[in-house]
Parts: sequence; C-alpha cells; structure tokens
Amino acid sequence: MINIVGNYTYAVMCDTSTRPVIMSISKAKVKDGWRFCSSCEAVSPPRSWHCQICNTCILKRDHHCVFTGCCIGYLNHRYFLMLVFYIFIGATYSFYYNNYFIWSKLVFEFPLSIIKIIFPLAIFIFGFDDSWEQFYLMIYIISVVGMLFTGALFIYHIRLVCNGTVAYEKDKNISKYNIGWKDNIKDVLGKRWYVCWLLPYIKSDLLHNGLFWSTVGSWKDNSKHR
Ligand SMILES: [Zn+2]
Ligand SMILES: [Zn+2]
Repeated sequence: MINIVGNYTYAVMCDTSTRPVIMSISKAKVKDGWRFCSSCEAVSPPRSWHCQICNTCILKRDHHCVFTGCCIGYLNHRYFLMLVFYIFIGATYSFYYNNYFIWSKLVFEFPLSIIKIIFPLAIFIFGFDDSWEQFYLMIYIISVVGMLFTGALFIYHIRLVCNGTVAYEKDKNISKYNIGWKDNIKDVLGKRWYVCWLLPYIKSDLLHNGLFWSTVGSWKDNSKHR
C-alpha cells in the first residue's frame, strides 16, 4: 500500500514538463534535435512532445496516463513504472486470498454464475442480484482484471525501458537513445536503481537532465573516460 500510494502521489506531483527547465537554457545550447513548439511558444528539447491535455511540452514524453491524470515523462517515469508493478503485486496478493474467500461463499450454477462472472458490475448495479455475494464477486473480478491488466502493462513498459525507448519512439522506429539495457534502466530508475524500487522515497539521481541526451555513439565514447 505504501508503494502504491507513494508512487501514485509522486507520479502526480512530479512536474515533468519542460517549463521549469527551459528558461535556464541559453540560445547557444539549442542545437540539433530541438524544435519550436507553437503551442508553448518556446523551444522544446529532443524527445519532448507536446501534450494537448496538459497543454505543455513534456520531457521525454511517454504517454498521458488516464489513471493518474497526468503525463508520464522523464522525471516521473520511475514512479509510474513502480506504481504499475506494485498494483500488480497487490492485485496478485488479493487474488490469491480472494480465491479462498469467494469460492466458499458462492454456489456455482450453470449458466447463471457464468453471466454473473462476466457482467458482475451490471448485475449488481442494475439490481438483478444485489446480494453481498454478488458484491464480493464484483470486487474479485475487478482484482483479477487489475492483475492481468497491470501485469501486461508492466511487461510492455519494462521492455520499452530496456530498449531505451518510449512508446512514441518505438512506433517511429527511433532507437538511437538505446545505450545498453543496464544504462537504459538506470536512466529511468536512477543511479541507485538497485535499491530505489523498494520505496518511492529513496533518492536516485537520473543520468541525464531531460534536455540533452546521449546517443549510442556518444555514450560509448564518454563511458571510456568514466
Ligand atoms: Zn509544447
Ligand atoms: Zn499530458
């Protein structure tokens, strides 16, 4: 619960837009890959995209998340990823114990029980069966759907992270920011990636500042001198 609520709060509260950082950039630093965003009326760094809902450009924009109501970008990517992971863990945990509970309460009748399992919310809300058993079944189905959905979502996003890309870049076949799976993970979870997934409160600095990026070649050259 601490991880779900904590990561959710951090993901929502974290400002990952270009606004706080763009003012400090001098004209000389604006180079290749930068573009002018006509909506923001400001320059926008590589990998950032404008969000029509947030009405601002987002650093390394992944997507606009409907569950948090905010964009997922460079600075809150870690919290989003961990939020999905811990919801999956929580939903799996409740699924395990709900199984013991629900099957001791329900008497399976074919085909009525099948309809109740497929449409638990409609059956309960429209009063076809407003018993406590149907309410428990509804909660059970929600946890099953939550478990499957977050499990698939986590696998999808961790694959993107390991490939050093975001959903938009994957669609456009842009792979030049892939600096190796380990550094790709570090770039999302931060330098203390091995411990920061335990709690959202553990500080972990990111590899970049969200404005300037290492590409495959430049990262290899720099890492020789590290
Ligand atoms: Zn913009
Ligand atoms: Zn947005």
